[in-house]
Amino acid sequence: LIDLVHITKSFDGQLVLDDLNLTIHENEFVTLLGPSGCGKTTTLRIIGGFEAPDQGQVIFDGADITSLPPYKRELNTVFQKYALFPHMNISDNIAFGLKIKNKSKSYIQDKIQYALKLVNLDGYGRRMPDSLSGGQQQRIAIARAIVNEPKVLLLDEPLGALDLKLRQDMQYELIRLKNELGITFIYVTHDQEEALTMSDQIVVMNQGYIQQMGSPEKIYNEPENAFVADFIGDSN
Ligand code: ATP
Repeated sequence: LIDLVHITKSFDGQLVLDDLNLTIHENEFVTLLGPSGCGKTTTLRIIGGFEAPDQGQVIFDGADITSLPPYKRELNTVFQKYALFPHMNISDNIAFGLKIKNKSKSYIQDKIQYALKLVNLDGYGRRMPDSLSGGQQQRIAIARAIVNEPKVLLLDEPLGALDLKLRQDMQYELIRLKNELGITFIYVTHDQEEALTMSDQIVVMNQGYIQQMGSPEKIYNEPENAFVADFIGDSN
């Protein structure tokens, strides 16, 4: 579904992604995993269109989308800081993107109800964001992304701010959503355990390179080099 082809990116003369090649298949949960600063977020931002590569192409469904702005790509992004609009209730937050697209009132209402059910927050539509817990707010941010029916959901450490119990609940919830909705997830984390639990494919990155890509079983049982072995081993 998505191919990154020879992607190179530098910031201030410092090489952050070095000739990165990556293929992501439809309906897979793909996790970019690696230590802080290895280039995970930059890779995600390039897929989302928030950052332009210095060289290389982003291919989506066979078409070159390297120079398309984010809103013209068939994907939605949820960042670690979920940034709901504080002065709007939950329904209006979820509907925001749909109103911009001039959808009808009944279409928007149906979508809001559907999305709230999906994230198990039925009945929360009239609440204000600051009356929800961090985990609930993050679920609303995901609901807001889902109503736009993206083919791909990009998630940058979406559970980073949550405590352990909530993280685990949300991990199950994201896997359920992926299975129910049949959309492709591209997920950034530095947490080995999270990657091993949730992913169909893990991309282990270090210093702008892909060290290994494979299923959790493969990465765990057959690390291809010392970096992958050490990094995955740290989760024990
Ligand atoms: P983390 O887990 O800490 O978020 P990461 O693997 O997601 O790390 P990136 O955020 O992609 O890493 O950053 C990779 C490198 O690029 C870092 O050294 C970072 O300082 C640098 N970098 C990222 N964005 C910019 C920017 N806009 N301007 C300058 N340098 C940047």
